[in-house]
Amino acid sequence: MRRSGVQEAQTDDQRALYELALYESVRLGSGRAFRRLVDQHGPGMLRVARWYRPDEDEARRLVRQAWVTALGGLDMFAWHTSFRAWLFGILLHHCRGTQADAQRADVAVAVPRRPPRAAHRQPQPSGDWQDLPWSPAWSPESWGVVDDALAALPLAWREAVRFRDVEGWDSGEVCDVLGLTGAEELGVLHAGRTRLAAAVAEHLGLDGCGEARCGWAAVTATAYLEGRLSADQRRTYEAHLSHCGACGCQLQQLRGVAAMLALRSTPDGSVAADPALEAAFRRWRVTRGLRPWRRLPMWWPR
Ligand SMILES: [Zn+2]
Repeated sequence: MRRSGVQEAQTDDQRALYELALYESVRLGSGRAFRRLVDQHGPGMLRVARWYRPDEDEARRLVRQAWVTALGGLDMFAWHTSFRAWLFGILLHHCRGTQADAQRADVAVAVPRRPPRAAHRQPQPSGDWQDLPWSPAWSPESWGVVDDALAALPLAWREAVRFRDVEGWDSGEVCDVLGLTGAEELGVLHAGRTRLAAAVAEHLGLDGCGEARCGWAAVTATAYLEGRLSADQRRTYEAHLSHCGACGCQLQQLRGVAAMLALRSTPDGSVAADPALEAAFRRWRVTRGLRPWRRLPMWWPR
């Protein structure tokens, strides 16, 4: 498989330069740069759109709408955040709107509706998987429990857990795309993972961890897993874990949930060859008075 230019750009500086070059090239009307951008972000956008609209055509329509909006606002992007976070923020705006519309329609016809569930690829047990605390009792039904518990989370919790654990975004970008501070992101991530861990533990008939009466805030476990503790706090917490069963159990369950969610990937879908999207780009280029590029500059990463 041919590697994309962004994968070949190894360092953060190279990646940033590549992203800037791509962005500026699109602004100048490069269809090739636009296709690369779509190739790069399209599959992830489609996965996110499916969280809200599992119907494939609907999800693709949302992705297309987001691209059209992004093209219209391209000059307003100011690099306060990554291009990806900006782009996905636009997508979320469209997705949340359509979900609210769908919920209103449900109320109108008064039909109880089960939360949508996308078709998932069942993960195969791997070395890491065997090390998870609940692996021996794990089954396809258990994935259904995770999906249902995820769908039942409040929107902010669900989005944070999905971007951080399912999509594997780093915390900074999760904050940017969801408009959260670091502390807020940690809080919703902890709340979401805790709720999922409880659902899985109940499904597997495991005892709860019990209430920690040691004075450590529960969110410390997530802060520890997220690498947010200082070196001193980390050492103190690790020493505490060796003799506090409740905190140790909680940490193990939260770690297990995060690891499970990382395996919860959904099939990609390419939107690179979407003719409607290509047409939308060409119309946008015409409105800007830009001409198609015949060649890209020499410094273009291959
Ligand atoms: Zn404790």
